[in-house]
Amino acid sequence: MNVSPYEMALTQLEKAAELAGIEHDYLEVLKKPMREVIVHLPVRMDDGSIRVFTGYRVQHNNARGPFKGGIRYHPKVTLDEIRALAMWMTWKTALMDLPFGGAKGGITCNPRELSRSELERLTRRYAWAISSIIGPYEDVPAPDINTDESVMAWIADTYSRLVGRWEPGVVTSKPPQLWGAEGRREATGFGVAIVAREAVKELGLRPRETTVAVQGFGNVGYWAARFLWEMGFKVVAVSDSKGGIYRREGLNPVEVKEHKLEEGSVVGFPGAEAISNEELLELEVAVLIPAAIERVIHSGNVDEIKARIIVEGANGPTTPEADSSLFDRGILVVPDILANAGGVTVSYFEWIQALTREKWPRNRVLKSLEEKMVRAFREVVEDSRKLEVDLRKAAMRIAVLRVVNAMKLRGFWP
Ligand code: NAD
Repeated sequence: MNVSPYEMALTQLEKAAELAGIEHDYLEVLKKPMREVIVHLPVRMDDGSIRVFTGYRVQHNNARGPFKGGIRYHPKVTLDEIRALAMWMTWKTALMDLPFGGAKGGITCNPRELSRSELERLTRRYAWAISSIIGPYEDVPAPDINTDESVMAWIADTYSRLVGRWEPGVVTSKPPQLWGAEGRREATGFGVAIVAREAVKELGLRPRETTVAVQGFGNVGYWAARFLWEMGFKVVAVSDSKGGIYRREGLNPVEVKEHKLEEGSVVGFPGAEAISNEELLELEVAVLIPAAIERVIHSGNVDEIKARIIVEGANGPTTPEADSSLFDRGILVVPDILANAGGVTVSYFEWIQALTREKWPRNRVLKSLEEKMVRAFREVVEDSRKLEVDLRKAAMRIAVLRVVNAMKLRGFWP
C-alpha cells in the first residue's frame, strides 16, 4: 500500500511494455526521464529576509513533440512524485495523439503561507531558473495543484521578457485575455463526464438510472458532476477534504457549489446525509469518480468497492494491486491517462491558438475535445476487448507503442 508514485508508474510501464512487446533497451530508456532539473531559489520575503525554496522540472520524453506538463506548488512535492507525474504525461499526450511529450514541475512550498507578491517573486525566480529548458517548441508548462492562471501569466511574462518577444505559447491555461483557451477551466471535468457517459453506454445503463459518486469537489470533480448532472445522471454523493454528503434522490452540483463557496465545504449541505470520504468510495453506485488525490483505492478497501464503473478523475487514484482485483471482479476502470486527459487536450488547442494568434469560441473547444475523448475511449475499449486486458493496460499499450515508434523512427543522436 505504501508504494511510491514513481514505483507505481514503473510497474504500470513494465506491464504495458510486456503486453506491447517492447524491447528491453527501449524499456530501459523509458524508465528514466530524459532530464531532471533541481533549482534552489532564493526569494526576498515581504519582511526583507531571504528564503530558499527548491523547485523541479522533470522532462520524461519528447520523441513525439515538446515536453508538456503542469507545475505543482505543495509542501509535500518531491522529485519522486514529479518523476511519476512526468512519465504519466508522456502516456497521456501519446494516448490522446497530441504532438507533445511528457514533463512535470513543482516547488516544495506552502502557497497558503505566502503573500501574493511573494508568490509572484517565487514564480518568476523559478521561471527564470528553468527558462533555458522551456519554450513553445521545447517544453510547455501548465498549472497543477495550487497554481493557476496568474502563475501562468507570470511565467509567460518572465519568459517573454528574457527572450525579448511576447511568447504566449510557452505555457497553457493562461487568463483568456492573454490567449488562454475558452473552456480550459471546465475541460478536465468535461472530459471525465464524456468518458463516464461512454462507459455507461458500454454497460448498457441508462443515464437516469445511473447513480454517480464523486470524491473531491474541486475543479475536476465539480465540472464532472455538473456535466453528468446536465446529461441526466443522478449525482448522489460528493465530498471534499472535510468530508462528504449523500442524498439518494440526487444532488444539484450547482447548488452544492454555492454552499461550498459560502461555507468552505460541501459538508452541511441542507437535506443531505453526512458521510466520510471512505464511505463515499464504498457506496453502491453505478459510477465512482475519484477526483481528489492519489492512491485512495488500495488493497485495504478494494473489496468494499461496489461501483460498476470507476472513472479516474485524479491522477493515480488506484494502486496496481487494487487494479488487478477490480479487473477480476469485472469492475470497469477508465484509467487516469484517458479519463482526465481533457485538460491537456484543451491545452493543446490553447497552444495552437497562441502560436497562430487565433481565438476559438468555447463551443468549438468543447466539441473538438468531445471528439478526441470519444475517439480515444473507443480505441482503448476495442484494444482491451481484442487483448482481453483491462482498459489501463490497453491505454498504456497504445501510448507506449506510439512513443517507442517515434523513438525508433527518429533514432538516437548524437
Ligand atoms: P482541486 O484542488 O481543484 O480539487 C481537489 C479537491 O479534492 C478539493 O475539493 C479538495 O477539498 C479535495 N480533497 C483533497 N484531499 C482530499 C481527501 N483526502 N479526500 C477527499 N477529498 C480531498 O484540484 P483539481 O484540479 O480538481 O485536481 C484533482 C485531481 O485531478 C488531482 O489528482 C490532479 O492531479 C488531477 N488532474 C487535474 C487536472 C486539471 O485540469 N485540474 C487535469 C488532470 C488531472
